[in-house]
Amino acid sequence: MANIDSITVRMYNTGSVGDCLLLLFKKNNVVTFTTLIDCGGFNTNTQSITACANDIRQTIGAGNPIDLVIVTHEHLDHVSGFNQAKAVYDSIPFNQVWMAWTENPTDPIAKKLKKTLGKKLQALIATLTEQHKKVGARLKSSTNTPGLNKRLKHYSKSWGEVLDALHFENGRSLQKNLAAGLTVSNAMVCVKGKSIKKSKEEMFRKPGEVIRDIKGAEGIKFHILGPPYDEDLSGIKNKMQEDEMYSLQKHAAFASSQTFLNAVGAGSSTPAFSKSPFSEKYKMDAPEEKDFFKKYHSKDMAWRQIEEDWLETSEQLAIAINTYTNNTSLAMAIEFEGSGKVMLFPADAQSGNWISWHNESVTSALKRNGGKPANELLDKTVFYKVGHHGSHNGTASKSGLDKMGNSRQLVAMMPLVQDKVPSQWGGSKNFPAKALYTELIKKTNGAILRTDEGLIKDPRAKELREKNLSALMQKKLKAASKPLYQEWTVEG
Ligand SMILES: [Zn+2]
Repeated sequence: MANIDSITVRMYNTGSVGDCLLLLFKKNNVVTFTTLIDCGGFNTNTQSITACANDIRQTIGAGNPIDLVIVTHEHLDHVSGFNQAKAVYDSIPFNQVWMAWTENPTDPIAKKLKKTLGKKLQALIATLTEQHKKVGARLKSSTNTPGLNKRLKHYSKSWGEVLDALHFENGRSLQKNLAAGLTVSNAMVCVKGKSIKKSKEEMFRKPGEVIRDIKGAEGIKFHILGPPYDEDLSGIKNKMQEDEMYSLQKHAAFASSQTFLNAVGAGSSTPAFSKSPFSEKYKMDAPEEKDFFKKYHSKDMAWRQIEEDWLETSEQLAIAINTYTNNTSLAMAIEFEGSGKVMLFPADAQSGNWISWHNESVTSALKRNGGKPANELLDKTVFYKVGHHGSHNGTASKSGLDKMGNSRQLVAMMPLVQDKVPSQWGGSKNFPAKALYTELIKKTNGAILRTDEGLIKDPRAKELREKNLSALMQKKLKAASKPLYQEWTVEG
C-alpha cells in the first residue's frame, strides 16, 4: 500500500475569527483521505459559513463522507458552522469523529471539569447580571452628573459584552439566526451523533495516543499532545506561564481577575469577609453599619459610591474564563512517517496545555505507542497552524515556537480576521500579539498566511522572504490566497 506523499491544508474564511480547516491527504496527487478540523466563526453570519461548507462538500464530492472530523474544543468560533450550515452538513456523512477526552461524558475527570467550570460560570453570570441591571437603573437617574453618566454607559456596554461572552461559554446561543434550539453544546452533540464509528475509545482522545495506519492515510501518524489529563486539572487551569509568553502585558490584568474571582466567591464556600484585605477589627457592628450606610447612600454622597468599580476587572475575567476552555483544546501533531516532517495543530491551546506535552507521562506514552516525544515533533515541524488566532498566550515560547522548525523552513497559517476580533478578547489591537508576531515572522522568514491578508503584508516579512526564500517558495506563497480560503501543500 502506497503512503501519503502530500497534505494540502485549506484554511477557510468563515467571515469572522474562527477555525475551519480542510486537510486533503494525497498519494500521487489523488486524495485518499479527508479531515475537517473545526468549522466556526465568532458571531459570523450564516451565509459566509455556508459558502465554506458548500465548498467542502464540493471538494470531497457530493455524497462522499469526510473521513475524519475533529472538533478541538467547545467554543463558538470552532463549532458554530455545524449549526449555521447544518443543512449542508446533514448531507455529508462523517466516518469518524475525534474530540478531546474533556468531552467524554463518562470520564470522571471530564465530569469534574465541567462541574467546576459550570459553577464558576453560573456564579459570575448571576453577579454580572445583577450589576448590569443596577447600572441600567442608575443610568435613568436624574441626579447623575454627565461624567458619571459617561462612566455608567461605558460599564453598561462592556458588562453587556462580558455577559454575552460568559453566556456563550456556558453554551447558550447568541445567534438569532440559528436553527431553533441549537447552541454551542447542541453543535457538539450533533457532531458526536454523526460519527459512523461510535466507539467511545476512538472518539475521545487523550495525550500520548498515537493513531496510525488509518485506511487511506497510510504512512501518517497522528500524535495526540493535549489537553493535559491530570486528576487535579492543573494543566487546564494553568493558563499563563510568564516565561512561556512572548509578551507579558496581560499578566497584571490576569492577577486582578483572580482577585475578582475570589471576591465573587465562585467555587468557594469561604465567607466573603475572609478575602477582605482589612483586618476583622475594622468590621463595623450593626448600629455603626446602619449609620454609615445612611450617609453613604445619601444623594450628595453619590459620587463617593464605589460598588461598581470593583467590577472593572470583569473584562479581563471573561478572558480568563475563555482561557479555561481554550486549554481543553485537542492539540495534535501529524507526522509523515517517511520523512519525519510534522504539521502542528494546537487549536486554541494556551501555555498550560503546551507545557504538558513535555510531561514525562506524555513522552513515555507517545514512545510506547510508536510515536515521538513533543521535542522531536516540534523540531521537525514544517507547518504550524498558529494557536488561538495569534493571541499573546496562544503560542508558548520555550515549550513551543522556540523549538520549532530549526532545521527546516517553517510555514505558518493564522486563522485571523483582525477587524472581527471580539472586544471580549481585548479587541483588534491585540491580534496578532506584537511580540509573538515579530518572533513568528523571524522563525518563518515571513512565510505566514493569514485569513484576512493572505501572504502577510508586514514589511519585515516581505524583506525576509525576498532575502531568504527561494523564488519557487515565494511564488507558491503568493499563489496560496484564494477568495474563500488560503491553501498550502506540505510535500511529505
Ligand atoms: Zn478560537
